[in-house]
Amino acid sequence: VAKINNCKSLLRKHILNIKPYSTARDEYKGTDASVFLNANENPYNILNYKYKEHDNIFDLNRYPDPTQELLVNEISKLKNIDTKNIFLGNGSDEATDILIRMFCEPGRDKIIVMPPTYGMYEVKATINGVETIDVPLIEKDNSHEINRKELFETIDTEPDAKILFICTPNNPTGGIVEGSVIHEILEKFDGLVVVDEAYIDFSDTKSFSSELENYSNLIVLQTLSKSWGLANLRIGICAANEVVIDFMKRIKPPCNISGLAQELAIDLLKNRTNKDEITTKIITERDRLSETLKGLNCVEKVFDSQANFLFVKFRDGNETYSILAKNGIIVRNRSNVEFCENCLRITVGTDEENAKLLSVLKNIE
Ligand SMILES: *Cc1c(COP(=O)(O)O)cnc(C)c1O
Repeated sequence: VAKINNCKSLLRKHILNIKPYSTARDEYKGTDASVFLNANENPYNILNYKYKEHDNIFDLNRYPDPTQELLVNEISKLKNIDTKNIFLGNGSDEATDILIRMFCEPGRDKIIVMPPTYGMYEVKATINGVETIDVPLIEKDNSHEINRKELFETIDTEPDAKILFICTPNNPTGGIVEGSVIHEILEKFDGLVVVDEAYIDFSDTKSFSSELENYSNLIVLQTLSKSWGLANLRIGICAANEVVIDFMKRIKPPCNISGLAQELAIDLLKNRTNKDEITTKIITERDRLSETLKGLNCVEKVFDSQANFLFVKFRDGNETYSILAKNGIIVRNRSNVEFCENCLRITVGTDEENAKLLSVLKNIE
């Protein structure tokens, strides 16, 4: 069990007394209001007027539900997480930003990351005047592992480290972090441990959200942007203990998720019955693509992946990137990033897209 029982002691002092922005909707206790002159909204639903013959009419002129109650309920059922432990962000990147602002005092507190990893943790930290400590992963055969010795030394010698980010499956390498290592970190680190599970549905690991009641310092991030195919809606999920969630809600912009996004997400979560089928198809295609790539002249190494992308080391990463680009195929060039020399991150596409990718790569010597 984590040493901190009360995450309040980790909050920046001025955050402790923040009251959430109170809307008229929060203050009105009744249930039968029909005239809304409280939010300076336009009384005319212009789109509704123009397209009134359509069935699906959204009140585009009205502000959305700031509590996102119906969508939270739906996600709670889907993920088997209590509603009081759920925060929804405008993408999970918003949750990362809010967590750093809530817990890290600029110029003093720090975050720990294990590169190569998702760049947004450091970006959000830097924007907020918070230093990032790198504990690089160690490349081993076709995967990467955490440098446990260096990580625990860093934890011991950096008392101002407030948040540690673990990305599993990791972007861009595609590998997972073993559950036992995450448990060990949760036990030994006196700050918050964020487990970013953006790609969990493509892996054979189980979510750490089931451990929330055992660790008050655990924060789990998920998103509807990847396996659910809803990147355009910008809906991220943050699961954590009730105190952390309560403060995140006080800090967020009241209407951080549009009503249209909320309604579409509810509809899709309830009715998109082919989500698992598509996820399985992407996994199968990923493994097939991985095997084919391993046989190509231009490929040095394909890392094991449990995500919807492959991290591939080429003989010449920049050259391969340009040839692909000339053929209209855009991949993520990580060749010039530390610890990623000659590596490209390639998202698993449709059968046709992957075939086109392979046809170009086959011709590179
Ligand atoms: C894509 C991604 C996210 C998520 O993004 P949102 O679209 O902002 O929800 C989060 N973490 C990682 C590691 C990702 O790759």
